[in-house]
Amino acid sequence: MGTEERAEGFVTEAARSRKIIHIDMDAFYASVEQRDNPELRGKPVAVGGARERGVVAAASYEARKFGVHSAMASLIAKRKCPELIFVNPRFDVYKAISLQIREVFAEYTPIIEPLSLDEAYLDVTENLKGIISATKIAEEIRARIRAETELTASAGISYNKFLAKLASDHRKPDGLFVVTPEMGPKLVETLPVRKFHGVGPATAKKMARLGIATGLDLRARTLAFLQQHFAKAGPYYYWAARGVDERPVRADRIRKSVGAENTFAADLFTYEAARDALRELIDKVWGYCEGSGIRGRTLTLKVKFANFQQITRSRTGQVQITTRSELEQLGNALLEPIFPVAKGVRLLGVSLSSLAVEETEPEHEFSLPI
Ligand SMILES: [Mg+2]
Repeated sequence: MGTEERAEGFVTEAARSRKIIHIDMDAFYASVEQRDNPELRGKPVAVGGARERGVVAAASYEARKFGVHSAMASLIAKRKCPELIFVNPRFDVYKAISLQIREVFAEYTPIIEPLSLDEAYLDVTENLKGIISATKIAEEIRARIRAETELTASAGISYNKFLAKLASDHRKPDGLFVVTPEMGPKLVETLPVRKFHGVGPATAKKMARLGIATGLDLRARTLAFLQQHFAKAGPYYYWAARGVDERPVRADRIRKSVGAENTFAADLFTYEAARDALRELIDKVWGYCEGSGIRGRTLTLKVKFANFQQITRSRTGQVQITTRSELEQLGNALLEPIFPVAKGVRLLGVSLSSLAVEETEPEHEFSLPI
C-alpha cells in the first residue's frame, strides 16, 4: 500500500518530457471521395457497400449528423439517413495518400507508428528539424497535409500515446489540442473507461460490474485489485488513471496477424462456391505477404453461418508458408471438411499468424528517447 500511496500522482521525469503527436485524418475515406468528386461535397456520404449486407467503412461529417458511423450495417445507415450516398471504397487511392502523409511525418521523425491508413503516432521528442515545440511540428504537419492532399487532419499532442490520441479527438475535424503533463491526471478523472486504451465493450462491462465507470473510479482501486481482475492489463489501467502511459511509439510495430474477410451478398452452400470465395481472400493475404516480406506459419479460417454461428479452424505448419499455392492449399484443406453445411455460409475470413519477416531489416538508426 505504501508504494501505491507514494506512486499516487507520481510521473517520472522521462515520461513527462516525451513529446508525442497523434495525427488522425478527418473522416478519411469519405473526405477523399468528396475531394475527388465535387458532387459529393456537402452531402451525406458513406464509403462502403450499399448491398444488403454491406457495412459502412467511413461516413462523411454530413452523414454523421444523422447518426451514421463506420461499422454500421448499410441497411441501418440508409434508414437513419435516406439521402445517404454510398460510394465504393478505393483502397489503392487511400493507400497512396497514406504513404504521402507518412512521407511528411518522416521529414520530422523516424519514429512513426501507423495505426491504420489514416492515423499514426509520432515521437518528436528528438526530431529531425530540431524544433522544440511539438505543437509547432503538429501545425506544420497539418498544413503540409492540407497543401499536399487537400485533406484535413486533426492532431493531438501530449506526453504519452494515450493522451495524444484522446487529444486528437478533442477538436475534430481540422483541429489541434494539447494535453500538458499538468492537465493529464485531471483530464482522465471524468473520462469514461471506454475511452481508455485497451478497454473494449467486454472490459467496460466488467468494469461497470465492479463499479468502475470513470478514470476517477479506476484511480480509487488499488494496483492489487486491478491486477486481480484484469491480470496483465491491471497495471496499465492503474497508471493510465493517473495520466501515465509509458508505451513507446514503435516505429517497427510488428503485426501479429494479417487477415481478410468477406461477407457475401448471398449465402454460400457448396464447397466449390466457398473455395472460389476463399481464393480472393488468399490473394489479399498473399498480396500483403509479398509486399511486406512477411511470412506466417499459422493459417486460421473463420466461417460464419447464416444463423451467425461462427467456427474457426486453424493449422500451424513446421515451417513458414512461402508460396501462394501453399497458402491456398492449406486454406482449402481447412475449408473442405466443413462441407456439407446445414446453414449457408454468410462470411469467410482467413488470417495468417506466427509471422516473421523473411529477411531481417537493418536495425533502426535512431533509438527511442528515454
Ligand atoms: Mg480518422
